[in-house]
Amino acid sequence: MKSEELQALAAQLLNCNACPLRKDAIAPVGWFGNADSPIVFIGEGPGGVEDNYGCPLIGPSGQLLDKALWAAKMTRDRVLTTNIIKCRPKGNRTPTIEEGKQCAQLWLEKELSIIKPTVIVALGSVALHYLGSPELRITRARGQWFKSAQGFDCIATFHPSYLLRLAGHDQVVAKWNVFHDLEEARKKVLEITPTYQLMSQQPTDLFSLFKKR
Ligand code: SF4
Repeated sequence: MKSEELQALAAQLLNCNACPLRKDAIAPVGWFGNADSPIVFIGEGPGGVEDNYGCPLIGPSGQLLDKALWAAKMTRDRVLTTNIIKCRPKGNRTPTIEEGKQCAQLWLEKELSIIKPTVIVALGSVALHYLGSPELRITRARGQWFKSAQGFDCIATFHPSYLLRLAGHDQVVAKWNVFHDLEEARKKVLEITPTYQLMSQQPTDLFSLFKKR
């Protein structure tokens, strides 16, 4: 079963010491969600709150993502969220392309080979650069379908942390862009797996599921 395979992988991930990022993090942060989900959301890497709780996208960015998912009729318990890089870079800096590649080849690729999603949503530049190409710019590439090297159907959208840095009209426009990208992703998932329930009756309360570690 996929959930058992992911559980076994999570146990291995906790022992990873393959790069210097590990020494500044409490521990690697894996993934959260439904192992049978046909859709996977891939962010950048854990921030401080994520490192504290051991859950991807649980801090302010994650809360905004949850609202966007709810608007697009999806909930975190029914999809799967993960990151390119599993250990929090010191000071929340953006991981380099090389750091992302090393970690993703060790862990994300294994996750994806177990989950075999129908659709991947790349949240922000780091995921876009890994799944697509380092030359792509998120402002131009968002909302357009592309194939990852592994053959997954991918669409990119803005990372919620980018939305949080915007204000006023720019933020409103960017939020609508994200909403339309999520709707597009949902539409494709339902074309291929029409019976899968992408939404629970309530939003997922991640803070009731994860405690500080
Ligand atoms: S960032 Fe990735 S490769 Fe580096 S120690 Fe953490 S889990 Fe391992």
